[in-house]
Amino acid sequence: MPESIDILKTEIKYLKGVGPVRAALLLKELNMRYFKDLLYHFPFRYIDRTKFFNIKEIEPNNTAVQLKGKIIKIETLGSAKSQRFTAILEDESGQIELVWFKGIKWIKEKIALQQHYIVFGKPSIFGTKLNLLHPEIEKLDNSVELSSKLQAVYSTSESLSNAGLNSHGFNKIITNLIPLVEAHLRENLCPELIQKYGFISHQQAMRNIHLPENYSQIQSAQNRLKYEEFLFIQLQLIQLNIIRKEQVDGYTFAKVGKYFNDFFHQNLPFELTDAQKKVIKEIRSDFVLGKQMNRLLQGDVGSGKTLVSLMCMLIVADNGYQSALMAPTEILAQQHFNTISKFLDGIPINIGLLTGSTPAPERKDLLEKLQNGTLKILVGTHALIEPKIQFQQLGFVVIDEQHRFGVEQRAKLRAKGAQIPHVLVMTATPIPRTMAMTLYGDLDYSIIDELPPGRKSIKTVHYFDSKRMEVVTFMRQQITLGRQIYVVFPLINESETLDLKDLQEGYDNISQLFPIPDYQISVVHGQMKAKDKEFEMDRFKRKITQIMVATTVIEVGVDVPNASVMIIENAERFGLSQLHQLRGRVGRGADQSYCILMSSYKLSKEAEKRLQTMVDTNDGFEIAEVDLKLRGPGDMQGTQQSGILNLHIADIVKDEKILQLARKDAKQILSIDPQLKSAENQPIARFLDQLKREKNNWGLIG
Ligand code: ADP
Ligand code: MG
Repeated sequence: MPESIDILKTEIKYLKGVGPVRAALLLKELNMRYFKDLLYHFPFRYIDRTKFFNIKEIEPNNTAVQLKGKIIKIETLGSAKSQRFTAILEDESGQIELVWFKGIKWIKEKIALQQHYIVFGKPSIFGTKLNLLHPEIEKLDNSVELSSKLQAVYSTSESLSNAGLNSHGFNKIITNLIPLVEAHLRENLCPELIQKYGFISHQQAMRNIHLPENYSQIQSAQNRLKYEEFLFIQLQLIQLNIIRKEQVDGYTFAKVGKYFNDFFHQNLPFELTDAQKKVIKEIRSDFVLGKQMNRLLQGDVGSGKTLVSLMCMLIVADNGYQSALMAPTEILAQQHFNTISKFLDGIPINIGLLTGSTPAPERKDLLEKLQNGTLKILVGTHALIEPKIQFQQLGFVVIDEQHRFGVEQRAKLRAKGAQIPHVLVMTATPIPRTMAMTLYGDLDYSIIDELPPGRKSIKTVHYFDSKRMEVVTFMRQQITLGRQIYVVFPLINESETLDLKDLQEGYDNISQLFPIPDYQISVVHGQMKAKDKEFEMDRFKRKITQIMVATTVIEVGVDVPNASVMIIENAERFGLSQLHQLRGRVGRGADQSYCILMSSYKLSKEAEKRLQTMVDTNDGFEIAEVDLKLRGPGDMQGTQQSGILNLHIADIVKDEKILQLARKDAKQILSIDPQLKSAENQPIARFLDQLKREKNNWGLIG
């Protein structure tokens, strides 16, 4: 029904209480243009206007309190550089100090002596006194008659507030908006789902989320709207996946031939884990569908992903096609090549390594063999998919560490042959399941969730700098036992020479403590030439050096089984997933391995939690969950570009259960009615259509 779209697409400046000036600000600050954008600006909290704390009853462990009182004193303290603004709020029971360090100019204009305010904040202790730091504050405005005692609180910005659109201002304009639009809000779920979950209608939910009369209305509106949000995202993702499978033809690799069988029976030195077998099966069944595969393979470091991908490459070779294995760095490409060469020893298959430092004659030879099809497996960096690298028949692309593989590179694959090759993206950065469901819902998804047998879990400790001499003693003991040690320094930005100073100083210290000729030390950092890095890595691998001092360039994939100690300096400066990646460099051999996290005494709460988590668990998925909770979805790797997590009301951490239900329902709906043609699914189809046409903030299709 076009009219329903039209009213929601009305420009916001036409809403009573907005006008052109505020409209321009709303666009600039919150990217709001239409009625609909305002409608979806959901409150993040509600004030119960009847419930106030007595100041005298506040305790330091109250989570947050709402107060009503009069400002009886204001004061600006401190120097120009570090100012502090304080105000004393008084009610019948007592007084409390409100404190601001930031936005002082703004708050000063907002607060006037002897006026009454509603204040909301979390008590903290300052010296011996309780205060509220940076509380929300709202003038007690008796002129506005609210329809209920519950008032929605909206996020806003300083300049919007200055233009009268503080939270309260939003209240007013949304109160104007709802009656205009609500008759046009059509149901967007089918009756079956509404009944199944006992949902209120879409229309009711939209009214109640903004203008609730009681808490149970808020609850039911939130439930419904969160579910809706997840459901429509999942429907889009799953549809994309279905469309891809229907429309994008792929090569069929039905044969399991000599390459695979010879490797399996003669070369494979160990039993595959059940998880590895399961994943190989999943990929094999994709290979015979005639559709292009897009699969994400997650598995902790050392879980045997590379081996799985190799076995799949052998199947591809058995069918006369070529494979490319791409690593994020040259070191890793080199290493993959070595590993694979060793695995394939004695099997007559042509494999090659192509990187920036491959000499010209060798390069020419490789490219020739690639074009005439005699080379079956090519290992390298992302340069492998450049147009000038021509394959005879590229059938399968394996990408190690997907986070470093962008959209642009994906597009290049499309130009590689008659059909788009099958793609397997491997990542050792575990993503929580909920996250994967939202981020990669359109990819097929495999997990290796068990490590090969016999792995000893890595003992992890956290030491402050004062324990340094003990650590040195421990290092010497380990070296005497024949083990090797990594010492890693943080390097936030590989191009910053400033950070290299840490590494240099660290190296000098270690050189003094572990002098030549008893000890040999390697150094690797991002600014070295590939050739030099390789040289140093090689010395370490061949046990000529016992200590490897490095920046995070060794983070991904480096495999030296004899290295059994990982020392991470300034560990508080690393993120959890990076710490986990680094720790994964040890524990690859038969010996007990150790990870020592060194930090200064000054730790933020979060840093402390990160280090403690590392000490507590070796499980990458558990670590990823903690990481997600600490940082929130917005900061997780790979999410910024996707826009998928631009959720209006749902939260993939807190609302995980709803997400799971929505995903299950979306799958079920589309498996029965993939085109959403049935009469009963019309409400869903209509809404989904509208979303796709708008591609607005939900911007999923990219
Ligand atoms: P990932 O790529 O997942 O980090 P790799 O494939 O590099 O893991 O495997 C890590 C190590 O474990 C390698 O040395 C590999 O040979 C070995 N490995 C792989 N699968 C098994 C298995 N099923 N049993 C024993 N060792 C294995
Ligand atoms: Mg690997």
